[in-house]
Amino acid sequence: MRLILLGPPGAGKGTQAQRLVARHGIVQLSTGDMLRAAVAAGTPVGRQVKDIMDRGELCPDNIVVSIIADRIQQPDAKNGFVLDGFPRNVAQAEALERMLHEKGLDLDGVVELKVDEGQLVRRIESRIKETLARGEPLRKDDDPEVLKTRLDAYRRQTAPLIHHYREKNLIRAVDGMAPMDEVTAAINWIFAKPKPKKTSAKLANTQKTKQKSMKAAGGAKKSKQTARKAAKALRRPVKARGSKVAAAKRPAAKKAASKGAKKTAKRR
Ligand code: AMP
Repeated sequence: MRLILLGPPGAGKGTQAQRLVARHGIVQLSTGDMLRAAVAAGTPVGRQVKDIMDRGELCPDNIVVSIIADRIQQPDAKNGFVLDGFPRNVAQAEALERMLHEKGLDLDGVVELKVDEGQLVRRIESRIKETLARGEPLRKDDDPEVLKTRLDAYRRQTAPLIHHYREKNLIRAVDGMAPMDEVTAAINWIFAKPKPKKTSAKLANTQKTKQKSMKAAGGAKKSKQTARKAAKALRRPVKARGSKVAAAKRPAAKKAASKGAKKTAKRR
């Protein structure tokens, strides 16, 4: 599974990426983390990007693209990855597409975490307070002025990716201001694997089937709850080209909830 999390700084990409890692057994590739590690280690790349990062501007494309190109070749990325902080502009997205194409790979999807910028600034301010309270050092870019530059860079350079991936029918938007667990539920909903069909051998095993039905009945409530959580944070899905108008017109919340209900009904 190969995914991209898109959203401005502070939208919660890191947290959601870690949850996707735990759920799907993939790796998190955060260019921000890799660049910070290079700065801390004082590598030539680190020295080149340090001031740029401190100002909250974007680092040169060739640097981040080559970092990602190296990283996705590593054995641990074979099973898939979630990109957090990359691509940050259309040129990077195109470079990624070329890289994947050369390997015969595809992207499974892009999640846009939609956030309110005013609340975002307050979120970062409280993160600064919490970090200071723990006696930990602040990130240089955890500064309201630098945050403004970073948000500006997002708006001007990264937000056009929404259109880019919409054209490819790959992007789904999630309400990033919803509680963390709701955001996770919505993302999980988007990438839920279809259940494998029952084989005749399984069906023949009536005893096991019975036990499973009993468990499913107990789990039905849970499934409804998950659907409700997902529906809250799952924004209107991007209309697929050529998709049925009726389906596209239906609000996401209703759609997700009805999917949940169908799922529950199937289990019964
Ligand atoms: P992040 O932790 O993803 O917010 O990234 C922190 C900083 O690293 C950004 O403000 C940029 O200076 C730099 N950076 C991270 N990823 C990229 C990227 N894909 N392209 C350019 N600069 C990046």
